[in-house]
Amino acid sequence: MEPIRSLDSVGEESFRLLAQDCAASNGGVNDLILLSLAHIYGKNFNTAVEVVDEQRIVCFVGEKTQRSVVKVQGKSASDVYLVFPKHFCSCQAFFFKVVHENEAICCKHQLAARLALALGRCPIITISDVEIASMLAFGS
Ligand SMILES: [Zn+2]
Repeated sequence: MEPIRSLDSVGEESFRLLAQDCAASNGGVNDLILLSLAHIYGKNFNTAVEVVDEQRIVCFVGEKTQRSVVKVQGKSASDVYLVFPKHFCSCQAFFFKVVHENEAICCKHQLAARLALALGRCPIITISDVEIASMLAFGS
């Protein structure tokens, strides 16, 4: 018997299906997949939907390396977080609830970035790789 998959791997598959369905339906959003994601990620997912709807996400891609980093703006204009959607966010919740306390799979900014990218709901801006490196080194 195969082992039951982890919730995060089910979430990963759900994001993949959401992106596939969105592309196949000209930008449509599959409500059943959204429900699945909301169930997996809880209240963080609802907040992530708000962040996407409020268009507070921008993805930057290095022109030669294709390395990418996502910037997510928090509630106030001065709160800007650097996000690697599957692995890292520079917010405090990521460090405390995800890394330190292992209480959550990811933070709301990571979810928002994954959702926006899956639905094609954020600008993707190509910049130089030096600018990407600078963004990572200096945090903005
Ligand atoms: Zn975060």
